[in-house]
Amino acid sequence: MTSGPVLIAGAGVAGLSLGLALARRGIASRLLERRAELSQAGAGIQLGPNAMVVLQRLGVAAHLESLAGKPDAIDVYDGASGRRLTRFPLGQHIEQRFGAPYRVAHRTDLQSALLEAIRAHTDLEIITGFEVSGWQDTGAGLIVTATDGRKHEGSILIGADGLWSTVRRHIHPDHPLTYSGKLAARTVIPSAGAGERFARAATGVWLAPDAHVVHYPVRAGRDIAVVVIVDEVTPREGWGRDISSTSVQARLIGFAPDLLEFISLAQDWHAWSLYDPPPLPSWSSDRVCLVGDAAHPILPFFAQGGGMAIEDADTLAALIAQSPDAPAGVFANFENLRRSRVQRVQDASRDNGKTFHLSGPMAIARNLTLTIAPGSLMMRRYDWLYGWNGDAVGRVSKA
Ligand SMILES: Cc1cc2nc3c(=O)[nH]c(=O)nc-3n(C[C@H](O)[C@H](O)[C@H](O)COP(=O)(O)OP(=O)(O)OC[C@H]3O[C@@H](n4cnc5c(N)ncnc54)[C@H](O)[C@@H]3O)c2cc1C
Repeated sequence: MTSGPVLIAGAGVAGLSLGLALARRGIASRLLERRAELSQAGAGIQLGPNAMVVLQRLGVAAHLESLAGKPDAIDVYDGASGRRLTRFPLGQHIEQRFGAPYRVAHRTDLQSALLEAIRAHTDLEIITGFEVSGWQDTGAGLIVTATDGRKHEGSILIGADGLWSTVRRHIHPDHPLTYSGKLAARTVIPSAGAGERFARAATGVWLAPDAHVVHYPVRAGRDIAVVVIVDEVTPREGWGRDISSTSVQARLIGFAPDLLEFISLAQDWHAWSLYDPPPLPSWSSDRVCLVGDAAHPILPFFAQGGGMAIEDADTLAALIAQSPDAPAGVFANFENLRRSRVQRVQDASRDNGKTFHLSGPMAIARNLTLTIAPGSLMMRRYDWLYGWNGDAVGRVSKA
């Protein structure tokens, strides 16, 4: 793909996975990251077998194994009574069915595992403190510029710069970032002192009108990652900003006492207003292509935004390796292979958001369905999601 490394804007889940997937195929890349240090907010991430299968191929899963939580089920509770409505089996059930496990991790641990695997590759460079502001096409490649005027030259630019992507804004300046009407607050609580049903090896999901709570063990079970999602009319400024414990607790009035007691153990919370923009008309332009949240933000009610970013990395790296000198064709193929799957996940996530927050008779009907239908049968509805093992090109890749 002409001379010079592949330039990747952003060293988040998508950027690190893509750099690594390229390196394993012998393709040099340079990650240009805005942050001065690769720190991560105290929060967790759930990784389905579709993401874990890629992390296994990338040599990341082994590093993650001792740090990750290994939930044996997703337990769904009625938020007000605390009654368990259903149990979706994970553990051995999912590993045997899909050939890869379901893991839950602290984001710092996922990042460390990715960086550990990256360390073995000298042709993958990470430049921190470099905020991409624009680029110039030279005909044979690109010169990417930072806000402080520094420059890097490469063959193509991949925008892996997340929801607030600068690269996307250059390609589609008028595309709206529509607010979803929901706010997420996240924290991590030590397991010691938390009640048994919060500290156990399971993901818990608590449902109530206008709010739900998700928790799962991280850091080899020493901590519990918690996400509280509430309906909120207007978005807050900032991304991952502090939010007070009292403000979070005030949104959970009506939840079962043991959930409230557990939530009161949290010291610090960070908040993210959630966005659900319409699909982009295209994910690429000339020598520039978007991946992960930059291309397709996904509401977190299916815990798959990071998973789709990791899948993107697997597919795009395989396509680049196949046709290194034809960026336009590579990017068109990438979008063809990925768009419908990502859209299906976006739709399913949006639907979950509505179902989780139902009230009145609709909530009663939901709870009844969850109580009656066997969890293992209901899980089969997600075979299309968890059973993914590379887009066509990924399966024949060299990695
Ligand atoms: C509350 C919540 C819970 C979630 N839970 C899950 C879950 O359980 N499982 C799951 O799979 N997904 C989950 N997600 C979604 C997941 O976090 C995202 O989909 C994922 O982080 C996207 O990865 P990314 O690399 O595309 O973007 P990001 O992780 O946002 O990374 C973008 C990177 O680009 C950098 N950057 C930004 N602008 C520039 C610039 N101009 N120049 C250089 N660098 C730049 C940023 O600093 C950052 O490092 C959740 C999201 C939220 C909000």
